[in-house]
Amino acid sequence: MSMTENLVTAGMPISDTESPRPSSLTFTLTILGAGSATPTLGRHPTAHLLTHNTEYYLIDCGEGTQYRLLEQKIRPGRLHHIFISHLHGDHYFGLAPLLSSLNLAGRTEDLHLYGPNGLDEILTTIFRYSDTRLGYPLHFHPVDPVTPTVLADLPELTISSVPLEHRIACSGYLFREKARKPKLLRDKLPADVPVEYLKQLKEGHDIIDGQGQVIYAVEDYTTPGPPPRSYAFCSDTRYSERLIEQVRQVDLLYHEATFLEDNAQRAYEVFHSTARQAATIALKAEAGNLIIGHFSSRYKQFQPFLNEARQIFPHTSLATEGLHVEIKDWQY
Ligand SMILES: [Zn+2]
Ligand SMILES: [Zn+2]
Repeated sequence: MSMTENLVTAGMPISDTESPRPSSLTFTLTILGAGSATPTLGRHPTAHLLTHNTEYYLIDCGEGTQYRLLEQKIRPGRLHHIFISHLHGDHYFGLAPLLSSLNLAGRTEDLHLYGPNGLDEILTTIFRYSDTRLGYPLHFHPVDPVTPTVLADLPELTISSVPLEHRIACSGYLFREKARKPKLLRDKLPADVPVEYLKQLKEGHDIIDGQGQVIYAVEDYTTPGPPPRSYAFCSDTRYSERLIEQVRQVDLLYHEATFLEDNAQRAYEVFHSTARQAATIALKAEAGNLIIGHFSSRYKQFQPFLNEARQIFPHTSLATEGLHVEIKDWQY
């Protein structure tokens, strides 16, 4: 299946056809599974893979996720961070098999796992009774489902939790790039400028002589780096306006849309959202683009989800398996 097959999009750039940045600055999302709890042929449960430069981040790991990774030719050995939203099976039943397979493959590198309390206990029990001894360090980071928390402060990304309103403890995840360093305008600088000056200019510091005079000003010899990009994953949740501030101006928002608006009461009762509600969050948060998914298996057609959401937020796409999106700094 082609990476861009089945794409239903409203002005969303696709990495295969539009690549405005060097590949070393990749920031892409691949949808590995977009279904909901009831098994449905051809619709696998939730799993998203975020690629930032050379790093992979797996978000949720529904049943069969390791096969979806194989299909997409993604080597799981490159994963160092896995995020699980909550302990309903359609979001993590693929995790123990994936962790076991990494072990079989001889992994020795550290792996960081973020998720609700209890996930560590479940895995420990599975591994105890299957006599599985992981040959690599697995670091479990319990996620507070109530208070937004910075979970990982990496050199290029900050990853935070986004508390959601679901029947059990549930968190979304927000990935924000750090500000990039300014770019040097080498042509404007004399050839004999000391390397140390170049470094300081790139760090955003003016070059000042012994008398306190500015020799080279940052604003004259650099251009600002590209704006930081961001992705927010909002897993199973009721409509919650508490999300809005946390995901404000995110470049790409994934928000579940299990039901259509005519089932809004049902959505409320079972702690899920409608397509219209997902679009309302995107609109109020001034998101760049919205992807909706996790449609209830009662629906056979998805176009009504798209129509309903686009009435509120035109830049909406459906989370179809294999969808591959480049996250960029959209104009708000
Ligand atoms: Zn679910
Ligand atoms: Zn759930």
